[in-house]
Amino acid sequence: MTDLRELYQEVILDHSKRPRNFGELPEANRRVDGQNPLCGDQTTIYLKIADGVVQDAHFVGAGCSISMASASMMTEAVKGKTVAEAEALFHHFHALITGEERDDDAPDLGKLAVFSGVCEYPVRVKCAALAWHTFKAALEGHGEHVTAEESK
Ligand code: ZN
Repeated sequence: MTDLRELYQEVILDHSKRPRNFGELPEANRRVDGQNPLCGDQTTIYLKIADGVVQDAHFVGAGCSISMASASMMTEAVKGKTVAEAEALFHHFHALITGEERDDDAPDLGKLAVFSGVCEYPVRVKCAALAWHTFKAALEGHGEHVTAEESK
């Protein structure tokens, strides 16, 4: 278990130091700002949605390593997904970080599983959730500004 934790930590550190899809997305048709006042994390999510598919996802932001890694990995995970698939991913990720029971038909979260340990730290749940809540608001096309208010 210790090895697994170390591996997870490495993945999170890697993504926080070298975030993927970082930067504005000029062709985006959705843009939502989000912040987690508890930790001071902030993020802006840019999406290009066309034909019911998330064609591209970028983010800009600053915050703790968990919030940065979560945003980086979220943009990778949702790219190319249909809106319905992306919403399902949001729900499963949310269940993962809050420690809820998972459905039997839950999809494999792949690399996102590195955030499973976060559920042990309620304060960190908001850091990991921020990018996803902001993404969901952007997906639904409402709200220019969201705060991570979900907690365990
Ligand atoms: Zn944070």
